[in-house]
Amino acid sequence: MKLTFWGTGTSTGVPVVGCDCAICSSENPRNRRRRASVLLEQGPRKWLIDAGPDFRSQALDAKLDLLDAVFLTHGHADHVLGLDDLRPISWKRAIPVWADSVTIDSVRRAFPYFFSKGDGKTSRPQLEFHQAQAGIPLVAAGLAILPLAICHGDSKILGFRVGNLAYLTDCNGIPPETVPLVQDLDVLILGALRPNPHPTHFSLDEATETARQIGAKRTFFTHFSHDVDHDIWARTLPEGMAPAFDGLVLQF
Ligand SMILES: [Zn+2]
Ligand SMILES: [Zn+2]
Ligand SMILES: [Zn+2]
Repeated sequence: MKLTFWGTGTSTGVPVVGCDCAICSSENPRNRRRRASVLLEQGPRKWLIDAGPDFRSQALDAKLDLLDAVFLTHGHADHVLGLDDLRPISWKRAIPVWADSVTIDSVRRAFPYFFSKGDGKTSRPQLEFHQAQAGIPLVAAGLAILPLAICHGDSKILGFRVGNLAYLTDCNGIPPETVPLVQDLDVLILGALRPNPHPTHFSLDEATETARQIGAKRTFFTHFSHDVDHDIWARTLPEGMAPAFDGLVLQF
């Protein structure tokens, strides 16, 4: 299987609108971060985790022509605001969307017209919502995937495990029920926001320590801010850990 990082940035993306800091002005392409999302591929099949506000440009760059399913980690704007742009490919074939019930409610409030029977078909994407539950494996368009509970501030949201890879973004704690489900990983993808602590995201040090405890063969960090220079951070990380960057491809 192949995973492509479509975005590795926090909710603002990097550069941040209106900011002229060194990272936002950086010429290094690894300091440009769209909103966090990954595409999984196996043969002709494609599954997406999260569809944030950059979905349209990410999909155009990837020449995306179909999607077999979408998984949502949670309902924050930077993870769901691209769902309306699924319209054109969803008209070819309806797209199953898997999310927990809280996230489906958030999507319903953000996009009430997705669920209305009125108007023309082209006014809304053809999405089939399915409820995912942490700890209960599911199969979506041929992909066996395990939703995992992770802490995001006061909320529990979903991470996902596919084979020996786990994708845990927007995370500031691994609850006890998830610890046994993230053993024996070849690849861990873990959210890490910035050097300073934050109430709903791991800082860089917290993420590094959590990754050390989980002990995957390789760890990649994602969802980071303009407080982080990719190359400088990469040099300080232990063996087997690295910041991801937009466009990075992993085989697993
Ligand atoms: Zn986020
Ligand atoms: Zn900046
Ligand atoms: Zn979030």
